[in-house]
Amino acid sequence: MELRPNPMPATPRLRFAPSPTGYLHVGGARTALFNWLYARHSGGTLVLRIEDTDRERSTDAHTQVILDGLAWLGLDWDEGPFFQGAYAERHAADARRLLDEGKAYKDFLTAGELEAARERAKAAGQTFRYDRRALALPEEEVARREAAGAPYTIRFAVPDEEIAWDDAVHGRISWQGRDIDDFIILRSDGTAIYNLAVVSDDVAMRITHVMRGDDHIANTPKQIALYRALGHPEPVFAHVPVILGTDGKKLSKRHGATAVGDYQHMGIVPAAMRNFLALLGWSPGNDDEILPLDELVRRFTLEGIQARPAVFDLTKLEWMNGQYLSQLDARDLLAPVERQLAALGVDGGGRDLLPLIGAVKPRARTVTGIAEQVAVRLPGATVTRDAKGDALAAKLGDRFAASLAMARAELAALDDDRWQPEALEAALKALAEREGIKLGDVMQPIRVALTGGTVSEPVHELLAVVGREEALRRLD
Ligand code: GLU
Repeated sequence: MELRPNPMPATPRLRFAPSPTGYLHVGGARTALFNWLYARHSGGTLVLRIEDTDRERSTDAHTQVILDGLAWLGLDWDEGPFFQGAYAERHAADARRLLDEGKAYKDFLTAGELEAARERAKAAGQTFRYDRRALALPEEEVARREAAGAPYTIRFAVPDEEIAWDDAVHGRISWQGRDIDDFIILRSDGTAIYNLAVVSDDVAMRITHVMRGDDHIANTPKQIALYRALGHPEPVFAHVPVILGTDGKKLSKRHGATAVGDYQHMGIVPAAMRNFLALLGWSPGNDDEILPLDELVRRFTLEGIQARPAVFDLTKLEWMNGQYLSQLDARDLLAPVERQLAALGVDGGGRDLLPLIGAVKPRARTVTGIAEQVAVRLPGATVTRDAKGDALAAKLGDRFAASLAMARAELAALDDDRWQPEALEAALKALAEREGIKLGDVMQPIRVALTGGTVSEPVHELLAVVGREEALRRLD
């Protein structure tokens, strides 16, 4: 299974290579999106490769969550999913080839001995460096140990030379081979270590652009050394910036939800999530923020990726979600809202939810928010006054109840047929004028009585969606 000199394809070939050892995180989703956008922008190909070589931590359930997350985000791929575990033979063959060519060597040091050497270095306050002692073993000794069945790992002999690359995001990055330990490429059980498996697969899959998180930068010189040793041109590397929370610390659970699925359950719509993720480390070159998918595809370039850390701002995500929600047709939101209502344990009672969704959508930031506001407008809902509602009632004192009583009397005169926004508005205006009270002092108490809060669609529309019978009941 020899690797043949493999000319780089004319159009970009990218890959998203998640390890199924956890959920699809925001950072992983952003990496997937950037690869997807660049593949689509450049007319290239996206390969999905599941890196399942950590057998203890990889699970099918995690793989499924990753696939579901990509599907939810609307990200597809052209080849795969391939499972890295299926290529163990090729990985081992690549290691053997490096061994045969004298670019790697056998090391009989056991894991225990290695650990002890590490501990000694630590106790002496030094950074552990592998001292290449296996290279000093005479050939007969290597043969003797092998014949005796002693297990060994294969280490890559890192050449003493400059290893540099022009990172598409960070510019030139240069390392010296002598600063990199001869790293293990094949474990004693014959399985490949990450750096070898990745290079072996990226070569075999003819990957032209490796775009991944910049936490991988330290792996890149090792991987470039392997490309050189295997005699294959290296791809373009683009290391996308780390994602921080608004406090400037690396995004983690402390900041709240980090799994894509959490945002789905929170009522973020895929279009908003995509748009938001795209701006985490990429800029269109101006202040444009609302960029639908086709715009993103059209404008996405590697040059637009920024090296400085990206900041995950939940308030901005919610704002962006609100922008997308307001553009969506109520019909598009029906199914997600129904799901959220079911999750809240609310039964729509067969009511047509579309007018309710339409009424609350302009002021909502999440689907969950819409569902909660729809629930408040359904017959029989329990209305709980929020702090602002309480404050208003306290401020108006007796006038609160008096105003409600007047409004109720006025509105009750409208029969079912005339219970329409225009007639309701006219009635309330007439009432305020006749009684000489401010329109707001008529409207706000109604809003609080009907929803518990002080913010909603215009009151005459609110009365209409709640319906005559239910609205009068609440005014009582
Ligand atoms: N499987 C690696 C990870 O999930 C990514 C490998 C790569 O992109 O080179 O971090």
